[in-house]
Amino acid sequence: MTHTLKTSLAIFLSLLLAVPTFAQHSHGKGSLQLILNGDVLQGQWTMPMEALLGFEHLPKTAAQTDAMNQLQKSLQNASYFIELPVEAKCQQLEVKAESDMFQGIKGKAHSDLNYAFKYKCANPQALTKFGFPFFKSHIRSNQLKLEWVSQGAQKAATVRSSKPSFSP
Ligand SMILES: [Zn+2]
Repeated sequence: MTHTLKTSLAIFLSLLLAVPTFAQHSHGKGSLQLILNGDVLQGQWTMPMEALLGFEHLPKTAAQTDAMNQLQKSLQNASYFIELPVEAKCQQLEVKAESDMFQGIKGKAHSDLNYAFKYKCANPQALTKFGFPFFKSHIRSNQLKLEWVSQGAQKAATVRSSKPSFSP
């Protein structure tokens, strides 16, 4: 492969990756991909920071800095975002909360939260309902486009703040 071709391919790929993210950015609305693979439940949540903090620029006041730090702290525990049935006996394995804002990067006009979490569940059959408590703490959030994947089957749903739960 020539150098030029490699470069154009890289640019093409980065455009391909960048465009959908930008197109999806709609205030108040987020997306969640939830995958159950054996006893491991994995999620990828994307949400405009505006819905979570009320602003998408770097903090300008002490109150905004506090709000952003508080959000980062809360997200260390995935139960802040998602509620699982107790009977499923799930234990959090890892979480990763990423955003330009957390890194202090002065982005474009918009900023997203990209949140990944992973649980190991002793009784995954009991995962029959998921709750989303974050809607209560972040009233600007009103919708979550959810994609559920388990044992090769897929299901799509829209979860709204008025009824913040999902049953596969
Ligand atoms: Zn925005």
